[in-house]
Formats: sequence, C-alpha cells, structure tokens
Amino acid sequence: MTCRTCRVPVLTQFASPDLVGAIVEGGLDPAGDPRWPDSGAESPAEYARWSGHLCGMACLRMTLGPGAPSLFALRDGALRYGAYTDGADSDGVIKGLVYAPFARYASEVHGLDAVVHRELSPAGILELLDEGRRVMASVHFGIRHPQQPAPGRGGHLVLLTSRTADGGGVHFHNPSGTSAATRAAGLPLPVFERFFAGRGVSLPGGARNG
Ligand SMILES: [Zn+2]
Repeated sequence: MTCRTCRVPVLTQFASPDLVGAIVEGGLDPAGDPRWPDSGAESPAEYARWSGHLCGMACLRMTLGPGAPSLFALRDGALRYGAYTDGADSDGVIKGLVYAPFARYASEVHGLDAVVHRELSPAGILELLDEGRRVMASVHFGIRHPQQPAPGRGGHLVLLTSRTADGGGVHFHNPSGTSAATRAAGLPLPVFERFFAGRGVSLPGGARNG
C-alpha cells in the first residue's frame, strides 16, 4: 500500500499487517502468522525469532520502494555488515540495529546516501525533512499510543517521511503500527519528542517524495 500523504509504501515488520496488534499486544506467537513466507524467512521459527527486531529493515524496505528485497533478504545483508549480532559475541541474543554498519550496508549495497545522526534534535529532524531526506528515528514502541504517557525513549525505529500538512509536526510510518492510522501517522513535534531518543539515520528521499 502506498501512503496517500507521502507516496511512500506503508510496510510492517510482520508479514500480516492485520496481525501486528495480536502479535505485539495480544501474545500471538509470530510463528502463527500464515503469511510468514512472504518475509523471506526460512522457517516459521526463524520468522518468530527475528521479526520483532526488523523495524529497521521494514524502514529500509519502505525507502527502497516497490521491488525492494524481502525483509529477511535485507536482514541477511545487514547481518553480514554487522548491523545485527546473533552469535557467540552476543550469547546468541539478537542485538541491533547498529547504526554505523547499517549505514555502510545501505550505502554500499543499496546505493543510499545514509548518514548516522548520533545526536539529533526534533528541529534537526525538520531540517532534514525540509532537505528532502527521510529519517529513521529511534523512538519507544509505545508511540503507537501517543495519547498515553511515553513509557520510555528509543528501542524501536520509525521512518519519518515529511512534515504534517500543518507544517508543525512529523508524518511517519511505523513498522509495528497496529492500525492503518498508526502505521502511517502524524504527530505534533512535542508529542513525537516524548518518545524520541534523539538519534537516527537519515536516508535520501525518493523522486516521488512529496
Ligand atoms: Zn506516509
């Protein structure tokens, strides 16, 4: 599905957008997602183990647009660059996304001018959007419930693609949005800021952006 606001695809980190809520809030084992093969995973078990970590790969897929590789094909590439760790060096725990190797991967393999922003202010986000760039921003996953207090900052990635129509907020795509309205959402900057960890990776906007 292409977003009517920003013309960027709306994609989730789980293969079935309709099951995101059941998986992230209802306790459904992702292995029960019947569309798991669409993700490119080798098995339901691999899909279940990784899908919760693939918000960054969903953002990358949205940036690459139609014809982008599958979530797990991108994961394979990111893993090769060290953007995720999943081995003896991390006790078998999946860690990531690590920004610097991710930016190298996005640049060298996908030709994207990716820039790591270790300190990024909300105003800095607006500047990047005004330059026509998109921003993969670290936010708390609770951002899908912006009317509630923020449980924390960071840990999840969303793709900011433009300002909101009134100019004062940010429009973004959330890979773990549990409804159409939270998968492609707009928030006033002060509300977004409550969930924002102050760091991210900027990526070029597409020719069709805006
Ligand atoms: Zn959009």
